[in-house]
Amino acid sequence: MKKIAILLLLTFSTLTPTFGQSWLRALSGAIKAGQAMTISDKDFADLVRQSVASMDQASKVCSSNSAYTQRLKRLTKGMTSADGIPLNFKVYQTNEVNAFACPDGSIRVYTALMDALTDSELLGVIGHEIGHVALRHSHKAWKSAMLRSAASDAIGAMSDTWASLSDSYLGGITSAALSAKHSRVHEEQADDYGYSFLKKCGKNPWAMGQAFQKLKKLSQSSSSKYDKLLYAFSSHPDFDSRISRMRSKAKRDGYTCD
Ligand SMILES: [Zn+2]
Repeated sequence: MKKIAILLLLTFSTLTPTFGQSWLRALSGAIKAGQAMTISDKDFADLVRQSVASMDQASKVCSSNSAYTQRLKRLTKGMTSADGIPLNFKVYQTNEVNAFACPDGSIRVYTALMDALTDSELLGVIGHEIGHVALRHSHKAWKSAMLRSAASDAIGAMSDTWASLSDSYLGGITSAALSAKHSRVHEEQADDYGYSFLKKCGKNPWAMGQAFQKLKKLSQSSSSKYDKLLYAFSSHPDFDSRISRMRSKAKRDGYTCD
């Protein structure tokens, strides 16, 4: 993720240079006046759209005929929206074990994660990410990270001219949003969403727990392939408590767990 954030900073300046300026100008004014910061729905949607586009541009996206993309397509067939938010999926070719969701319904899955998990386990993780979109967790996390970043950047640049603000500060705002973490409660809600999602897909929902078991093992592995941060899964709650929550649910529903 860090690598992507850095790449993003490098590529962001190639995007529409005037993007977001009205918002940042208003924000800068609000900070000067000591007012609370806000961002309109439209500016936020624009900012997210541009962030996702630049992230895709900076990443190695698997082509539509790659085995990874075909597998993801097969698994997500018919999944077009989550609580009214249109979904779109892409695979990033990288050794990092990760998947993440953006507020606009963009879900990105990494090849190393796909290599590590069975179809059902992967579907559980995808369900977890769709949960973050449907429950508006991604929306909240991105928005607060963007506002925090914009505030510190704008304060730090008060003496600068407006022209020198835009590109570099927008890059900072975007990278802050990408590294935003969810709360423990939101992670548990997304786990529950993934669990129910598996049931809806006609799969054994314990696959969610099995996915966490594998990810836990990978996080302890000394293999250089997995030396990257398990960004989306390594924060809180820890794997053990997530696994035991999934096990209790599955047992309660009459499924056998290993
Ligand atoms: Zn999550």
